[in-house]
Amino acid sequence: MSGEAAAAAEGIETHEHAPGAAPAGPAASHGSSADVGAGVGGPALSSSATARLPYVAPSSYLRPPSRSSAPQSPSNRIQPVAAGSDAADSESTASQSMTPLDAEQIAGLKAIRAFLKVRTSYDVLPLSYRLIVFDTSLLVRKSLNVLIQCGIVSAPLWDSKTSTFAGLLTVNDYINVVQYYWQNPEALSQVDQFKLSSLREVERALGVTPIETVSIHPLRSLYEACTRMLQSRARRIPLVDVDDETQREMVVSLVTQYRILKFVSVNVRETQMLRKPLRDLPTVGTYGNLAVAHMDTPVMSVIHTLVKRDISCVPILDKDGTLLNVFEAVDVIVLLKGGDYDNLNLSVGKALEKRADDFPGIYTCTINDRLGTIFDTIRKSRVHRLIIIDENKQLKGLLSLSDILHYTLNSPIGDEEP
Ligand code: AMP
Repeated sequence: MSGEAAAAAEGIETHEHAPGAAPAGPAASHGSSADVGAGVGGPALSSSATARLPYVAPSSYLRPPSRSSAPQSPSNRIQPVAAGSDAADSESTASQSMTPLDAEQIAGLKAIRAFLKVRTSYDVLPLSYRLIVFDTSLLVRKSLNVLIQCGIVSAPLWDSKTSTFAGLLTVNDYINVVQYYWQNPEALSQVDQFKLSSLREVERALGVTPIETVSIHPLRSLYEACTRMLQSRARRIPLVDVDDETQREMVVSLVTQYRILKFVSVNVRETQMLRKPLRDLPTVGTYGNLAVAHMDTPVMSVIHTLVKRDISCVPILDKDGTLLNVFEAVDVIVLLKGGDYDNLNLSVGKALEKRADDFPGIYTCTINDRLGTIFDTIRKSRVHRLIIIDENKQLKGLLSLSDILHYTLNSPIGDEEP
């Protein structure tokens, strides 16, 4: 029923902005954090959506009035690897055409890259943690309940018949199941018998990219883990080791883009050297062809867009382009809680009502913010993306963790190391 799917996708729009187009001013004069969060949206809502829904939580760590670029070094930091010498190198090699800000930015990037090259995924793991692994014979319905009960959004899969790692279950798999039933409503009667091992058939039926099977050994460098994530567009990667005695694969844990960037922000004080504002980094983030939706857009349309564009969120705007909220791929999990795969015609506004009461809100920034302060925010809060807005809360762009990671690893820094 591709016709229905296409019709459902109509509610989604695209939104264009050139990074330079938004008014630029000194960071200190640019809307305070309270400005960003206060009173957004109420009057612009459709009657079906309630006024308390579309809040944008203040991103209070951004735009500090003024801060020195020299951070304090808390005693619990891991010593940055060769960071001092990198910074010094970069200063001495800074060409004359380079501004001091450029040179400092490059020194910061070098320090982060050096750190990522000598730290491993094992270093990121906490001393004590739990890992929930699903057997592929588990029913999809049950797996969803376990995810919700445990407050997690993904889990490695284990094939006990072959005793092998069978990929990573993520919200995308549930979204695939939703799409499958949307296209094959007659199959809904068997939804209760659907097992995780059937997910591959669903992928095949939909013609979508196969379930994420990329993994990495926990002793490989974080740099390699990041590269692998960027190449595969995976936002998390399972750590798979081999048992010495049995020579069998063993899933140790998984690392996410968020955990790695947080680890960097806690341990690499040179992140504070990334002082160039986003407006001077036009390739960092997405500014054109943004997928957006409104409070009255059917959730199913948003789901189709998430899949089609391979993105993890869609900003929700009012009619004037003001940012009201963000629908995230993980929001689908709660919607499917009761097994209602065929009941996703509710509006985005209604869907957002189902979020947990302690939902922390969404993070915003402006083109005047710097990656240094954004790393600060990542250190202090669970941030998965920042929505770039102007002083009138108009949507300008999107800065995802993969954008930050891509820039951190791949932006040219002159005397490139191999
Ligand atoms: P993410 O899905 O957050 O990992 O982002 C993957 C890439 O898609 C990044 O370059 C984002 O900037 C971009 N992106 C994320 N959401 C959107 C959206 N709603 N519209 C356009 N691009 C997006």
